[in-house]
Amino acid sequence: MTTGTCSTTIAPVDKVPKDLTDNDVVVVGSGAGGLVAALTAAVRGLRVTLVEKAPYFGGTTALSGAGLWAPANLHVLAAGQPDSLDLAREYLKHTVGDRTPTSMQDAFLEAAAEVIAWLEEQGVRFSYMTGYPDYHPGLPGGLLTGRAITPKAMRGPDFAAGGHPVHPPLPMGAGGPPIPEVGPEGPVWGGQSLIAMLLTACEDAGVTLLADTAFTDLVVEDGRVAGIRAGELTIPARAGVVLAAGGFEHNAEMREKAGQGVVARSDWSLGVVENTGDAIRAGIALGAATDLLEDCWWAPGFVKPDGTPSFILWERVAPGGIVVDRDGHRWINEGTDYNTFGHVMLAAHAEGRPVIPSWFVMDQHFLDTAGFAGLRPGADPTPWVEAGALVRADTVEELAEQLGAPDLVATVERWNAAAAAGVDDELGRGAPDSHERQLLAVFQRYPGIAGPHEHPNPSLAPISSGPFYAGQLVLSDLGTKGGLVCDEVGRVLREDRTPVPGLFACGNTMASMMGHSYPGPGACITPAMAFGHLAVTAIADELAGAPR
Ligand SMILES: Cc1cc2nc3c(=O)[nH]c(=O)nc-3n(C[C@H](O)[C@H](O)[C@H](O)COP(=O)(O)OP(=O)(O)OC[C@H]3O[C@@H](n4cnc5c(N)ncnc54)[C@H](O)[C@@H]3O)c2cc1C
Repeated sequence: MTTGTCSTTIAPVDKVPKDLTDNDVVVVGSGAGGLVAALTAAVRGLRVTLVEKAPYFGGTTALSGAGLWAPANLHVLAAGQPDSLDLAREYLKHTVGDRTPTSMQDAFLEAAAEVIAWLEEQGVRFSYMTGYPDYHPGLPGGLLTGRAITPKAMRGPDFAAGGHPVHPPLPMGAGGPPIPEVGPEGPVWGGQSLIAMLLTACEDAGVTLLADTAFTDLVVEDGRVAGIRAGELTIPARAGVVLAAGGFEHNAEMREKAGQGVVARSDWSLGVVENTGDAIRAGIALGAATDLLEDCWWAPGFVKPDGTPSFILWERVAPGGIVVDRDGHRWINEGTDYNTFGHVMLAAHAEGRPVIPSWFVMDQHFLDTAGFAGLRPGADPTPWVEAGALVRADTVEELAEQLGAPDLVATVERWNAAAAAGVDDELGRGAPDSHERQLLAVFQRYPGIAGPHEHPNPSLAPISSGPFYAGQLVLSDLGTKGGLVCDEVGRVLREDRTPVPGLFACGNTMASMMGHSYPGPGACITPAMAFGHLAVTAIADELAGAPR
């Protein structure tokens, strides 16, 4: 999914400290999972404190485009999409498969649409992402025109966030298509809008929100988690602690230990730097089981001259850019969804193929119309060339020479023939009803994005107008997806599958019920919100003596 952007940030306001000793629930982390958990607690009448390590709220969620994959939700149905929970169940069977328990997949499906409807009641508004495809629309249950929604955009002046500071957005173009820059009037959209609406709702409902407060440890009394420590501060929780502190993408040691090998590189990750696995380690210390630690929400990335990574999403579906290995061969349908792209890249690397890094190859026409990695369409790439981030040559032969990729010339010739014919026989890019062709059509409706071209296949354009360019493609991630094993209401489980009393998790702190898959836009954030909501609902029901 695309990157959320806005140009508006606001200063923190002084909050009157509330009594931190009086909590039913303590939540750790303020991404979508943590904020929904805290909001659920407050709306259910529980006393709740949320601690956040960063000086602002929102985590990686605030950087995201906040596509939300919530099958059969009210907006998708209102838009006339032929969706149902049964259809989505079928789709998960073919994407997630048996990598995670069916009961967890069902728990998500039952909760996802419900949490969206419930959030609407709390003033958090969404709309259908018109036509944004599932990532495997050809599989049984998949939908070419998708089942994802996105938070409603807001005007810049309405970006109040309950008076709390929101994590600043990524620079424009570090993820999605290069839509025009926006000023203070906005609109503010994606993750920025979602976090702002959630913070406003939390503030109104009476959640105590503490920024700059890093969770360090769990407090256990009589075998039950009874609170947290944040440095010198101890914050008790009568009924439960919800760990929603993201993954461990910025802990190179944990990544190495988890077997992530060549990609155990935090400097390639797009997750927020605070996500260092603190909550996962605290759970493990109490005997919690873990799963999927070797995996991430993968994303092809490009490291810009300033050393920060860009998410290469739009560029791979825009016509006229190809991905080649270091010998110059295309090795993947460029428009493959980012998570599958990562898995294929890792598998090819394991077989000894020179794909990490790969090269993204394009011509001047591509740079002028699509831009690249935050370089706006038509911008002068010379500073990036001089910094060594892009390689430039007058001919494809010279580019091949500079890259030391002898087969690039033949590859570009074959690609140009495919563009002329309108069919990519080699890797099937841009086939009718393919995810990448549909996604391109969606992006071409965004403001400021060039429309369809004159070539026979909308996804294929020749690489023919020099100069020619190449940029290194690395394997970045949107966060890790392995973590603490949880049950259907987010209770953290031990190896013997008994719960750790009083301990819950959601988001990337929890081993994802999506297994190794990424079924569609929003497959990370919606489960985070669903299990945050389920966890606190279970806590509140237990306090109220209600049956689960
Ligand atoms: C560019 C980009 C685009 C994306 N687009 C999408 C999309 O459209 N849809 C989608 O589903 N996903 C998307 N993702 C992925 C998604 O944003 C994340 O996987 C998801 O937001 C994780 O949510 P979370 O609540 O688990 O963690 P986060 O949102 O990262 O929140 C975790 C919070 O915990 C805090 N924390 C960490 N350690 C501590 C501690 N010790 N004490 C207190 N607080 C702590 C962190 O500071 C952070 O604020 C995108 C990611 C990126 C980078």
